Amino acid sequence: MKKHNFYAGPSILPEFTKEKTAEAAVNFAGTGLSVMEVSHRSKEFVAVMDEAQALVKELLHVPDGYSVLFLQGGASTQFLMVPYNLMNKKAAYLNTGSWASKAIKEAKLFGEVVEVASSKDANFNYIPKGYEVPADAEYFHYTTNNTIYGTEILKEPEVAMPLVADMSSDIFSRPLDVSKYAVIYAGAQKNLGPSGATLVIVKDDALGKVERTIPTMLDYKIHADKGSMFNTPSTLAVFGCLQTLIWLKDQGGVEAIEKVNIEKASILYDELDRNKLFVPTVADPEDRSRMNVTFVMAPEYGEVEKEFLEFATARGMIGIKGHRSVGGFRASIYNAMPTDSVKALVETMQEFEKIR
Ligand SMILES: *Cc1c(COP(=O)(O)O)cnc(C)c1O
Repeated sequence: MKKHNFYAGPSILPEFTKEKTAEAAVNFAGTGLSVMEVSHRSKEFVAVMDEAQALVKELLHVPDGYSVLFLQGGASTQFLMVPYNLMNKKAAYLNTGSWASKAIKEAKLFGEVVEVASSKDANFNYIPKGYEVPADAEYFHYTTNNTIYGTEILKEPEVAMPLVADMSSDIFSRPLDVSKYAVIYAGAQKNLGPSGATLVIVKDDALGKVERTIPTMLDYKIHADKGSMFNTPSTLAVFGCLQTLIWLKDQGGVEAIEKVNIEKASILYDELDRNKLFVPTVADPEDRSRMNVTFVMAPEYGEVEKEFLEFATARGMIGIKGHRSVGGFRASIYNAMPTDSVKALVETMQEFEKIR
């Protein structure tokens, strides 16, 4: 039976990425050695790192004056690297979920953090709007896509200071205006590659402005100056990321994949709005994530939740159980998720509706 992989992360990767990485695990770039056993300073691996950085720049139209880094430690390490490197006194944060809350917690170790708005009052099922950002905040941090709660901010907030964004779960799903950002970061394992690599895009000008001493491994400038080779990068994970970037370019880049993502998300949300058994957890269509579609059983059908999970699992739907803090279901439909798998989930929901 075909498996449809709806896991939130680590999550579905293109067949191309898996096949190329499997090949390179045995014979990398004709070396007769595994990508896991060659020096990161070998010319073959340096070429991988260089091409990956160049493709990130090409696909996201990154302007001059930015460095692309492949680091480790996940997005969670970026929660502290960002304020370590950028915050002197004060920064503003938008609280749209548990990842944003964790970023806020770390930033508080470094200075004054202004939480400009929060949607915690409604279990983060909407995006706060109409908030004010203090003019003296050095940057404004937000989470573009809230993986757990199924909300997404598609339009860059209009603020006077540079933006910093956690884009772990929607980077490369749509075009961006990188010039508005001081830092963009993303753990690879949602929309890019295997876990173990963290993509950071940093504006060179934003660095070197804090008074504190930054430990070497946490200093963006060190990693930028050394081309992400200050210490050993996660070679296998970076190789996997490169394959996904090559695949994405072949699909027509972020402009083309955005169209597919819009179509996939609307197929699923249309069914959720129509099917009497299910309710999407995010009511406002403007706030709904194109990457993580969260839904629960309608109140009168609450008792068949477990039954639907079993019904769907028996039809090859993998990883649709919702995060424990939201309950219900979550279908993560990242770039690599084929439209046919989304349609298969919709058919499963329709079949289940018939037998209820
Ligand atoms: C998964 C996720 C994280 C955590 O990433 P790690 O790489 O596990 O540290 C942070 N932010 C968002 C938006 C995520 O989806």
